[in-house]
Amino acid sequence: MSATAPSAGPQAVEVERIRADFPILQRPMNGKRLAFLDSAASAQKPQCVIDAERECYETYYANIHRGVYQLSQRSTQAYEGVRAVVQRFINAPDEREVVFVRGATEAINLVAQSFVRPMLSPGDEILITGMEHHANIVPWQLVCEATGAQLVVAPVLDDGQLDMEGLRARIGPRTRFVSVVHVSNTLGTINPVEAIISLAHEQGVPVLVDGAQSAPHMPVDVQAMGADFYCFSAHKTYGPSGAGVLWGRYEHLKDMPPYQGGGDMIRTVSFEKTTYAEPPQRFEAGTPNIAGVIAMGRGLEYIESVGREAMIAHEQGLLDYAMDRLGHIPGMRFIGTAPHKAGVVSFLLDGVHPHDMGTILDMEGVAVRVGHHCTQPLMERFEVPATVRASFGLYNDRDDVDALVDGLHRVKEFFG
Ligand code: PLP
Repeated sequence: MSATAPSAGPQAVEVERIRADFPILQRPMNGKRLAFLDSAASAQKPQCVIDAERECYETYYANIHRGVYQLSQRSTQAYEGVRAVVQRFINAPDEREVVFVRGATEAINLVAQSFVRPMLSPGDEILITGMEHHANIVPWQLVCEATGAQLVVAPVLDDGQLDMEGLRARIGPRTRFVSVVHVSNTLGTINPVEAIISLAHEQGVPVLVDGAQSAPHMPVDVQAMGADFYCFSAHKTYGPSGAGVLWGRYEHLKDMPPYQGGGDMIRTVSFEKTTYAEPPQRFEAGTPNIAGVIAMGRGLEYIESVGREAMIAHEQGLLDYAMDRLGHIPGMRFIGTAPHKAGVVSFLLDGVHPHDMGTILDMEGVAVRVGHHCTQPLMERFEVPATVRASFGLYNDRDDVDALVDGLHRVKEFFG
């Protein structure tokens, strides 16, 4: 048993203590200790997050913003209080820049429709990279179809790094917007977003950073990064599903039209003319996921309580251990070996279909993801139909990696 992080930072992550915070990890899977290696898809929830959501429903739940009674005021305070938590978590200058959304997907669609679409003319270009999640491809295709703009894609190198020269060459006079993933959910590659943003800003082009995989795994400072927009999903930061964050510079948000219309996003409504609330309310039409947002805040505080420097050291240590152990299995092929990489390992084993591996690993209590991971163009780039992906969270330890390796040996026995 490995009780502490393989590489200890100033404060090591105490994995046994952390595991005890997650009820689902106490439950066996097929009679075995669950090795949950799919946090890149969605993280498990600590008791404090589950309690925050339950406490809201059990003790003070009511609709927000419109009630004069105490329950509504308390719900409003708890919900609105999460903006300051997010502000601190990503070092945003102003909590009015924190928009609550359903997740990264909705955040990107919001920016695509409200910020980018109105500025596009036929022939204009939106630049993304070849390692984007579908959530950072399809919203741009939708605005391109509607406006006659074009999607331009920066290439990915063989080891899974972004081709920075290729990216630089694609920022041209028609580039209107750059949208780039911070950490690839399939390769684990950590992109040099600061450098990308500088290149884009030199040409006066604003940038969105898809932080779905960086917010859960590394310190994020949107001011140091220099981004115009940054987004993430609560369900990957140990919070509930159906909540997330779009952060945007106030100078952009204040001039953006609403994304959706309805209650709570207006100042005045008449049949002749409706006026809109200021950001962030302007972008939060209708009754939001009140308890979900409150529990999201608790998930972020949980990460802070562990310490993000310690977390990064822990996950990097596990990544190194996993790459080393997996690399000794004959027939192993890694997809994504960039030098700057987060705790995500995608691989194939000669002669075995990823889905068969996933099924056998599940019988061994090892939960990994198999498939295209919502990155079909990236699968085409590497000429593979699918990969097996193991991804790490705070609660993983070397035992989980060992269970994965043992399971893969079983896979090999099975398939001869
Ligand atoms: N971007 C990346 C890199 C992701 O990994 C994901 C989810 O897997 C998303 C965007 C979309 O997140 P959500 O489905 O929570 O909206």
